Amino acid sequence: CGIVGYVGTEDAKEILLRGLEKLEYRGYDSAGIAIANHQGIHVYKEKGRIATLRESVDETESGMVGIGHTRWATHGAPSQLNAHPHQSTSARYTIVHNGVIENYEYVRREYLPDVKMISDTDTEIIVQLVEKFSSEGASTEEAFRHALSVLKGSYATALLDLEDPDTIYVGKNKSPLLVGLSEGVNVVASDAMAMLQVTNEFVEIMDEEIVVVTKEEATIKTMAGEVVKRDSYIAEIDS
Ligand code: GLU
Repeated sequence: CGIVGYVGTEDAKEILLRGLEKLEYRGYDSAGIAIANHQGIHVYKEKGRIATLRESVDETESGMVGIGHTRWATHGAPSQLNAHPHQSTSARYTIVHNGVIENYEYVRREYLPDVKMISDTDTEIIVQLVEKFSSEGASTEEAFRHALSVLKGSYATALLDLEDPDTIYVGKNKSPLLVGLSEGVNVVASDAMAMLQVTNEFVEIMDEEIVVVTKEEATIKTMAGEVVKRDSYIAEIDS
């Protein structure tokens, strides 16, 4: 159970798959990635080994932005359907999530009574909430902050928007999350190990913060939208 994300100048699928392999030690029952480019967002997910996921990914899949996940099921059986990434009904939004949304039944009843859920996971309510708030007029960043602010529980989560495929939105509460910085490349991961292949410069993210990540910038904000400045550090670990 962990997440990875990459925004840069190289083939994202290979970096994400390698990152997920580095997270294997945390345990998992399924794995998946989503790759974004200006033609669309493609999701690949499989129950079982990352090697199985790797085989399922189209070799010609090209995109320099993506998110990935290893799942340790808490809500919904381990299956391809329940593996992450999950998409909103319109497929505009794609999400991965590590953690547990404790109030997901309440959120579903209160905010999403008419939405037909695709999976059995607690995670899906996050991506459906983002779609709801966005369809009511919020920007994606606002919709994401609004969605996270109604959740109770733990999350390290990363979101892709089909209409802005050069940006990854990440959020954290009570699950580990780091942002990694490099020249024209930024990454996110549950554990620095996963992204040492790209960089050893990281910034710690605190609970109830979000980060808007492009290849040029990683902007940390509070749930209220205020920008947070924090120094990076060099991770002294062997990959
Ligand atoms: N609660 C989510 C699920 O069951 C995420 C589990 C995880 O952290 O891998 O799908």
